[in-house]
Amino acid sequence: MNAYDPNGEGSDGSRDRTGCPLCRCRDILMFFRDRARTYLQCDACQLVFVPERYWVSAEEERRTYDFHQNDPGDPGYRRFLSRLSDPLSERLPPGRTGLDFGCGPGPALQALLEEKGHTVDLYDPLYNNDPGVFRKRYDFICATEVVEHLRAPGSEFDTLFQLLKPGGWLGIMTKLVIDKQAFRRWHYIRDLTHICFYSRRTLDDIARRYNARLELVAEDAFLFRKA
Ligand SMILES: [Zn+2]
Repeated sequence: MNAYDPNGEGSDGSRDRTGCPLCRCRDILMFFRDRARTYLQCDACQLVFVPERYWVSAEEERRTYDFHQNDPGDPGYRRFLSRLSDPLSERLPPGRTGLDFGCGPGPALQALLEEKGHTVDLYDPLYNNDPGVFRKRYDFICATEVVEHLRAPGSEFDTLFQLLKPGGWLGIMTKLVIDKQAFRRWHYIRDLTHICFYSRRTLDDIARRYNARLELVAEDAFLFRKA
């Protein structure tokens, strides 16, 4: 196994060493360290991730999310989400059924897509924990400001692609890792609930793994189309 940390971190035998939480590869390298956390990188899919010992508790996580401004009536937030919802709805035939996965406390994306004539179910482990969504199949799924929070992104992406019908769309919004220089100055890593950071190569790897086609529709908005 790759000893990513020559300074003895991980000697507590924690699950940090089990490999990449996205592609399960075991070649993990040290990427960056700041005062708050250590960041590791998967040598295969390039995901940058924060080891489990730095994860915040569910209660802290919820306090941070309650603070997020995602009021469906807020024009700034609607504009932000439209970077994903506009290109997605341009590609959808009328009257499709989708899921807003990780909708958070304010169902803004649901409002935007329902205004376009689609039906949108909601799921969120904290705010809308409806297990019924996992028995359905969807024409589209959105996960905005979600994938950077996932503790087990590999199994979550497995689930999302399973929930999609053939030809269905998975839309995600997250900010991409550019390089190590930009990473150290990045505001995105200051939010301690952000534990996974994707690069363009990570997205390409996801597309390949799930046999999907990837489209970059904005600098932080991406559509995968399931085959
Ligand atoms: Zn990986």
